[in-house]
Amino acid sequence: MANVYWIKGRSESLRKNAVSKIDALLNLKELARLVNPDESLAIKINLSELGYTHYLPPVIIGALFSKTRAMGAKSLVTDSCSLFKGSKFDGYSWMDSALLLGFSNGDIFQNQMMQTAGYTSEEGKFREGDGEYLAGAEIGSLLTDTGNLIVVSHVTAHPLLGLAGAIKNLGLGFLTRSGQLKIHGRLEISIDDQACNHCGDCVPFCPTGAISGEPGKVSFDLRMCNRCLGCYVSCPNRAIGIRPEGIPEYQKCVVDAAHTVKKHLSGQAFYINFLTSVTPQSDDYPFSDIPFIPDLGIIASEDPVAVDWATYQMIVRSPGIPGSIAQDLDVLEKGQDKIRAITDQTPVEMLEYAEKMRLGSKDFKFLSGP
Ligand code: SF4
Ligand code: SF4
Repeated sequence: MANVYWIKGRSESLRKNAVSKIDALLNLKELARLVNPDESLAIKINLSELGYTHYLPPVIIGALFSKTRAMGAKSLVTDSCSLFKGSKFDGYSWMDSALLLGFSNGDIFQNQMMQTAGYTSEEGKFREGDGEYLAGAEIGSLLTDTGNLIVVSHVTAHPLLGLAGAIKNLGLGFLTRSGQLKIHGRLEISIDDQACNHCGDCVPFCPTGAISGEPGKVSFDLRMCNRCLGCYVSCPNRAIGIRPEGIPEYQKCVVDAAHTVKKHLSGQAFYINFLTSVTPQSDDYPFSDIPFIPDLGIIASEDPVAVDWATYQMIVRSPGIPGSIAQDLDVLEKGQDKIRAITDQTPVEMLEYAEKMRLGSKDFKFLSGP
C-alpha cells in the first residue's frame, strides 16, 4: 500500500510559502531517492495552450528544476506538442509558447526544456505493452534517455477523463503525435448545425482541412477528421460534440498507454498533483474559466492510481466556489461530485481499470505533510 502525501495549499509564512513546499516534497523518501548525482531526471509538466491562464506557474516548476539540479541530478523539463493547430503544434511553436508562458529557457531552465517526442512530435517508436485495448504505444524518444521521472500535473476537470491528473499526464504526454491520434481514433465528433453560427473560430485549429472557410462561410468534411479535438476546445457555441460511445474505451487506452510508458521507463517515477487553480477546462484549452474549488494544495505519491484517486476524492469533498461553474451547476456543497457535474464523466472506471492493470492501487495510506 503506497503512501499518499497531502501538503496543504495555504502559505502562512516565509518558511511555508509555495516554493518552500518543493523542499517538503523533496524531503519525502519516495521522491528523494529519485534525485541522484549525475543521473538523468525528467520533470514532465503540462505546458498549457496560450490563452489558458491558470497554469502552474514557472516559479514552481523552476524551483523543482533548480533544486534537483543543485542536488546533482541531470534534470530536464518536458512535455509533448498538441494534436491540434494551437500554440504548441510543433517544436518551434512549443518553444515560443514556453517562453511566452514564462518558462524562460536560459535563465531558469538552462536550456533544458524539450519535447517528449522531439521537434516534429514524431520522434519515437512503437513499444509493446500489455493492455487489453492497446497492444503498445508509439512512445517519444525522450523516454529512452530518461532515468527517473517526476510527473507534475496541474489538476483540472477533463471532458473525456473526468480528471486531468497523473494518469493523463503519463499516458498521453509521452506519446508521439501518431501514438496519441491512435487513442483519439476511438472518438467521434458531431456538429450541431443549429448551434454553429459559422463564426470561424475553429478553422485555424484544424490541422487536416476537415474544417475550412472563413467567418460567415465555414465548411466541414469530417471524412478528413483525425479527432484532434481542436474544434471542440475552440468553439464558443458548443456546436462540436464528442459522441459518448467512444469515451470508455478512450479512457482505457489512456491507461494502457500509461502502463506502457511505465513499463519502458528505465528508472522510477513519482507523481505530484497540484490542486491549485482547478478549472473546468484542462490546460489544453485556449482559455480558462475561474477555478471551481479553493486551492487544496499538493497530493503526491509514487502510485499514480492512488494519487489520482485521492485527488478525485478531495475535489468531491471540497466545497465549490460561489460564482464559479460549481454554482451554475448547483454543486457547491461538500460531497457533491463537481467533476461529474462539469464533465459528465468520472475517473472511477478509468482508475478501476488502472488498478486491474496493476498500474497502482486505490488503497493507500494518507499522510498529512507540513
Ligand atoms: S474537425 Fe477533426 S481534425 Fe479538424 S479540428 Fe475538429 S477534431 Fe480536429
Ligand atoms: S467555432 Fe463553433 S460555431 Fe464557430 S464555426 Fe466552428 S463549429 Fe461553428
